Amino acid sequence: MRIHVDRDRCEGLGMCEAMAHEFFELDDDDVMHLRDETPAEEHRGQVAAAVASCPVLALSLVD
Ligand code: SF4
Repeated sequence: MRIHVDRDRCEGLGMCEAMAHEFFELDDDDVMHLRDETPAEEHRGQVAAAVASCPVLALSLVD
């Protein structure tokens, strides 16, 4: 599984970080960085919830 970020959509709103800070991190300029682009399968539930939480649909999971 790989996390895909649509950088044209992401507005640095931080919902993904709030849901799964192990994988998503906002810097001081509210630019989101992936801490782990390819999470282990055991984290799918948490990562999928974070992906679903993005209000501007900037995140997706690629298998
Ligand atoms: S929740 Fe969406 S808009 Fe906000 S930082 Fe994460 S990817 Fe970007």
